[in-house]
Amino acid sequence: MTEKMNYTEVTIAVELQYQDIVISELMEIGFEGVEQEERLVRAYITSSLYLAEQRSALISICNGLPADCQIVSEKVIEPKNWNEEWEKTIEPVTVGKFFIKPSWKDISVPDDLILLEIDPKMAFGTGYHETTRLMLRMLGSTVDGGEEVLDIGTGTGVLSIAAIRLGAGHAFGFDIDEWSYDNASENSQRNRVSDRFKIREGSFETIPENKLYDMVLANVNRNMLLSTSYQIVSRVAPGGKLLLSGLLDVDEAAILQNRDYSGLQLVDKLQENEWICLKFKKGK
Ligand code: SAH
Repeated sequence: MTEKMNYTEVTIAVELQYQDIVISELMEIGFEGVEQEERLVRAYITSSLYLAEQRSALISICNGLPADCQIVSEKVIEPKNWNEEWEKTIEPVTVGKFFIKPSWKDISVPDDLILLEIDPKMAFGTGYHETTRLMLRMLGSTVDGGEEVLDIGTGTGVLSIAAIRLGAGHAFGFDIDEWSYDNASENSQRNRVSDRFKIREGSFETIPENKLYDMVLANVNRNMLLSTSYQIVSRVAPGGKLLLSGLLDVDEAAILQNRDYSGLQLVDKLQENEWICLKFKKGK
């Protein structure tokens, strides 16, 4: 998306509480970026891709909501460098002990915070997800130093980079998403931890055979955490710790009742909005 091209800006009037649903549907039909306001979503799509079919899909999305949702304007906007425009909207955030900023923002780091330079290259969403923030906060009270870390679904690599910055020895991260692999590799180099952070594209099969980890991190989602519970728990070394997120508070019971997780001791829990992060310890 670096070259300049024509985009159509579609403005949709919809209440904030329904915007996430509308946005995820918009992404499905080919929209590439959005801006949110209290009662409006401005969504952007390459003009040549905004055809009758996309338009009627958009109208059906609106009609399917239990609230008012209407297209209020559609216009072709001046060609612009989309990445640059988007990058401008990403602000540094402070999470627990960390100050996270994109590499292109030239801003000094508060003295008492640890800098993480993370370039999130997603097409939408600014700031960082609640679950990432929860994991980062939990890491702050979990890393003692020297740990071997397994980072399941590493994404931007942020959790491994943070763990190493807190003193963990090494991290191994994997992700099924090719783009995440590239992004985590770049972020690892940028934060100068690449000698201690190994990244693989793929899933559990990439983990070195028989290797156990002092700390296992998995910020994925409820279904994956349940369906791969054995693969996750079996990688935690005796006495090791497991941090789970990607969970809503309503998912907690299912996790605690799961055969594999129930064999561990729940030692801490953090919550932000409806999202939770659970910390477990394995017996020695
Ligand atoms: N750890 C990052 C990213 C979390 S998003 C953070 O905390 O911010 C979840 C990531 O898990 C996504 O990048 C997704 O591609 C990856 N993922 C989902 N299912 C997976 C699987 N079965 N194996 C490996 N990675 C997976």
